[in-house]
Amino acid sequence: MEIKHFPDPALRRKGEDVKSIGNDEKRVLADMAETMYMKGGVGLAAIQVGIRRNMVVIDIGDGLRKLINPIILKKEGSETQEEGCLSVPEKCVNVKRSKKVVVDYLNEDGQAIRLSAEGLLARVIQHEIDHLLGKLIVDYLNPLKKICNSLTLRPFDKLRAVPSKVDGRQKLRVNPEQIKCVEGLTTREL
Ligand SMILES: [Zn+2]
Repeated sequence: MEIKHFPDPALRRKGEDVKSIGNDEKRVLADMAETMYMKGGVGLAAIQVGIRRNMVVIDIGDGLRKLINPIILKKEGSETQEEGCLSVPEKCVNVKRSKKVVVDYLNEDGQAIRLSAEGLLARVIQHEIDHLLGKLIVDYLNPLKKICNSLTLRPFDKLRAVPSKVDGRQKLRVNPEQIKCVEGLTTREL
């Protein structure tokens, strides 16, 4: 399966609930899991491979979970941590999420499961459910970083001062792209 990358509009579509679980759905889930493992991810949502159905696979190292039509029933606490995403390669974004969640879903045998999760599992569940709602980690960037990203289409973290020679002496010069970013913010904010 081919993973869609930001800013592909397919990533902004919303998933639809799965009405019945048959061989097609099971095959999609198996292919999604294979793709997730191949790319070294801990989760993958169907939306990321262009399938508009509410299906997610997750493996944080304690076994594969297949979640169909997941819904978060309860959220508790909050915690900010860096996250990456297979659809937003080479970017890390600080995302504030609930520490604990209770989620209801169907497994691939059609059984209703209620799962209480915390820590990494809770975070991955929330990240994947975001995908089913058309939401991405870039939506959590602060305004400066958002503007930088839209102007340059390059990761903010790579916009750094670059060394250059001025009058024969090595000096640090601010990357011109970075100036553009700051100007973008100033104009907007004032
Ligand atoms: Zn993701």
